[in-house]
Amino acid sequence: MTRVGVARPDAIRRHNLGLLLTQVHRDGEITRAQLTRRLHLSRSTIGALVADLTELGLVDERVPSGGKRAGRPSHVVGPRADGPYAIAVDVDITHVTSAAIGIGGEVLARHVVATANGPRRPRQAAALVDEAVRELSKRVDPGARPVGIGVSVPGTVSRRTGTVEFAPNLEWRHEAFGEMLAEVVPPELPVYVGNDADLAVLAEHLRGNARDCDDVVYLMGRIGVGAGIIVNGRPLRGHDGHAGEVGHNVVDASGPQCHCGKRGCVETYIGENALLALAGRNVLPTQESIAAVFADASAGDEAAASAVRTVADALGRTVASLVNVLNPERVLLGGSLAGVLEFARDEIVRSVDRFGMGASRHSVQLCTPDLGDDSPLLGAAELAFADLLTDPVGTR
Ligand SMILES: [Zn+2]
Repeated sequence: MTRVGVARPDAIRRHNLGLLLTQVHRDGEITRAQLTRRLHLSRSTIGALVADLTELGLVDERVPSGGKRAGRPSHVVGPRADGPYAIAVDVDITHVTSAAIGIGGEVLARHVVATANGPRRPRQAAALVDEAVRELSKRVDPGARPVGIGVSVPGTVSRRTGTVEFAPNLEWRHEAFGEMLAEVVPPELPVYVGNDADLAVLAEHLRGNARDCDDVVYLMGRIGVGAGIIVNGRPLRGHDGHAGEVGHNVVDASGPQCHCGKRGCVETYIGENALLALAGRNVLPTQESIAAVFADASAGDEAAASAVRTVADALGRTVASLVNVLNPERVLLGGSLAGVLEFARDEIVRSVDRFGMGASRHSVQLCTPDLGDDSPLLGAAELAFADLLTDPVGTR
């Protein structure tokens, strides 16, 4: 007879090591006393688990100096400087940003390659990722080892295979990007691919502006527009993992042409190209050109200000639709939409009030992300860290 479902002591220990490491990862540094309270384990068990993680080369302990409180200070547990790191890559249209990210979410090193109109072919993007792996390894502690590679792309992704089904602004369709990456990077490094907005909301939920919020939408505004959604504390992915393509909901079938092939998508009213066109600027959407619109709007340039307000009105309608369907506690507006919120919050709120339903529209909080433009990058690191956090012993 086979006995199933009984956790052996070693399995319990490994499970608890994962829980403890996850707490350190979420907070960066945490005291033994806090760990004892959060994990509901005895002080001696916490002490033994910390000793195990220290021996595995994952955490360090230090005794804080100073402080006014009497008694023995609780030891602080934090990530080791030469501990493992994730390689995170954010493939955007105009640049590919890579970073080595340590346990605790600290960016240890960063490598940015401008790609002008985009890495048009996925193999080119894969080569840039390979270059980043080598470049970053020179800049981290020589003893540190990478655990895997997480890649964020502005498109729909089949998470299991890493195939990019459709990234309209990169003009990628059914590209086996995960396989291409696996062919070029060192074979010992597992590769994971995810959608930028999905990863952004993951990072903000873990350690950003949605940390204590279990119903949240992250609306990402870059050249493309998409949503990462968490409902009841869990990511909403949909049947094939492609949920959240808010940017391609059609507002007006006779509206402006969209990169996806349809007309009048949300993206053509609130994406970066729309903002630049409304401001009368015939330039490529880059961080600089988008920042210039907001700076000029704040300095009194009427064309720029009017463009931002027009986008704000359409953005409010988009948020109202999300609020009607999902009733989120918080909507984070990222990328260029953060700038729209900062300059024209009143216009957005007015539009949400006009088009939103009932109590949901009054309770929703509109915020900018805490992690700024790094949210997708930090979310991509989570893909690479997941195995280590589940079983710190097994992935050594
Ligand atoms: Zn579209």
